Amino acid sequence: MSNIEESTSPVRPIRCPRCGYDQRGIVATWKDSCPLEGTCSECGLIINWSEVLQPEKYEPLWCVEFARGRARLPNAALRTYLRSFRPWRFWSQLKMASLIRWRRLTTYLLLLLLPLAAGYVLLQTTAAVCTRLEWEQVMADEQQSATRWVTIVQQKIDAGEPFYTTPADMQPLRQRMQAMQQLALNGATIRHSYAAAIFEAVFLPLRRTSKGVITNPAAVIPYSYTPPADLHQHLDSDRVESAKRWGAIVLWPLIMLPLCFVLLPISRRRAKVRWSHIWRVGAYGLFLPVTAGTIMILTFALEHVAKGVVELMAPLIDLLGWITLIGLVIWWAVAIGRYLRMPHSWAVSIILSAMSLLLLMAWAFLGGFLF
Ligand SMILES: [Zn+2]
Repeated sequence: MSNIEESTSPVRPIRCPRCGYDQRGIVATWKDSCPLEGTCSECGLIINWSEVLQPEKYEPLWCVEFARGRARLPNAALRTYLRSFRPWRFWSQLKMASLIRWRRLTTYLLLLLLPLAAGYVLLQTTAAVCTRLEWEQVMADEQQSATRWVTIVQQKIDAGEPFYTTPADMQPLRQRMQAMQQLALNGATIRHSYAAAIFEAVFLPLRRTSKGVITNPAAVIPYSYTPPADLHQHLDSDRVESAKRWGAIVLWPLIMLPLCFVLLPISRRRAKVRWSHIWRVGAYGLFLPVTAGTIMILTFALEHVAKGVVELMAPLIDLLGWITLIGLVIWWAVAIGRYLRMPHSWAVSIILSAMSLLLLMAWAFLGGFLF
């Protein structure tokens, strides 16, 4: 009894966890005992009163929102991420009655960006280093062929072979000989350190010019180093396109699914789910595209290093795309059923995903039509 009195103090309003409807009227009718369950008159949710009156007791401590103390935050974020792969348990243990800790949730979302950012830096660094090494190889090859050229021409001159017929031709030959001797002796210089190449690749990835210059004694003017925008040119373009396509296909429902959810009459009218719960489901669901995106980025980094793996990787992009898309449907279906406690969760999730994809197709069609 004392517990109820404590909880019914005006400091904390007693609300339906799903729709937010004030339940203090019902609680006030309790005289000697309190029932275990009740039904929200507004949205029809079967309310477990114990969960509503003492939400702290039901907070899952593995979850990033409820880990006690900041020191446990990184560990809790990792555990939350790993548990996301088992949505059935995830959404059975996290309850609507547990108030959303927005700051913790935002921190978690920022932490989720870390693997993507790390993957990006790794990809750009790999591309920059591989390109730099390739240039070094090209320069070494040029130096070698210059040496060969000088030797052959010198032999011909020594042998008095009249391969240049007029004396006027001898002047350019002498100049050419000097330049080639220079190249054979010193090689070309790449005026672009590894650090500078990596910096450009990571921080100025779209630049169409490079600060790097190659001075080659055999070339009339120094020529430019590979610009950051061209670093990925030799990647398999089909795979790059397919990764971009999947990015659009997956990102779209990620944004549109929550929107469709609120707009869809069957879910809104029946369940009156609060926005905050939808954001919570959507936010934790970001682990899926983040994971798939990071793996995709890593395969491209690998392709820079070992070009032979392209063939093996080709189906991987499509596979990851499908897993993410189907994973999102499962994620929402489980959350709608176990967390939001709504009926027909699978049908709702499939309808929502189909709706958002149809909107994407309409958008793409309209875009193609207009532009
Ligand atoms: Zn309700």
